[in-house]
Parts: sequence; structure tokens; C-alpha cells
Amino acid sequence: MSQKHDKQRIYNSKEWKIIRAAKLQRTPLCEVCKSKGLAVSARAVHHIIPIETATSFEEMKQLAFRYTNLMSVCYTCHSEIHEALRSRSREGHQRSSEAALQRWIEKHEKVVAHSEGKPSPVDLPEKKK
Ligand SMILES: [Zn+2]
Ligand SMILES: [Zn+2]
Repeated sequence: MSQKHDKQRIYNSKEWKIIRAAKLQRTPLCEVCKSKGLAVSARAVHHIIPIETATSFEEMKQLAFRYTNLMSVCYTCHSEIHEALRSRSREGHQRSSEAALQRWIEKHEKVVAHSEGKPSPVDLPEKKK
């Protein structure tokens, strides 16, 4: 039940280390600074959709390891982003996790609706055990 523990597991995982290194290698400059015309080395990889919005460990892993959800940032920009997220989170956190859940449901419903009646070649991204 502990999200902290789940995050710890993700950040300690080999997958995270690999994707994080790949992101920094492909995007070595801070993306926030770059948008301001500054070239600053990225030092951290930020999740655009915070992984804390996940409602399950599976969903958290999907958010954490989705390449398009990653952003290369310098330490300064990273702490600024989280500062902004924190100040918004008081009323925003509940809503953003609901929004994430909603997106999740919609995506699944679309797949289900699409495959109705005929066998679909697109399978739900279900994990095989
Ligand atoms: Zn920056
Ligand atoms: Zn971050």
C-alpha cells in the first residue's frame, strides 16, 4: 500500500537506470533551459505526468518507464518544477490523479469498444504471468 515503497522499487530498478541513462544520453541538455535558449547540462530525469498519480504499482511502472513521459532537466529547473507542483498539489493532486485514472479508463474502454464483435489484433497491454 505504500507509494513511497513502490517509488523506491522503481528508482532502484535496472529498467529505470537504463531508461534514465538513455534519456540523458539522447537529450543531454535541460529541456526547460533549452526552451529559454540556454544550453545547460541535464542532471536529472523528470516525469511529466508524476508517477505518484498512479493508482497501482503496474500503472506507476508504466508512467515511470514511458520514454515520452520523461524530461531531461538541470537541478535548478527540476526543483522549480517540483516547487510549482507542490504549491499546486494542495487542491490539484486529487484532481490530477483522478484525471490520470480517467485517461486510463478511457484508453481501455476505447480498446474494448474497438475490439467488440470481431477479434482485434490489438491486445490490451496486459502482463502475462
Ligand atoms: Zn534547466
Ligand atoms: Zn521530477
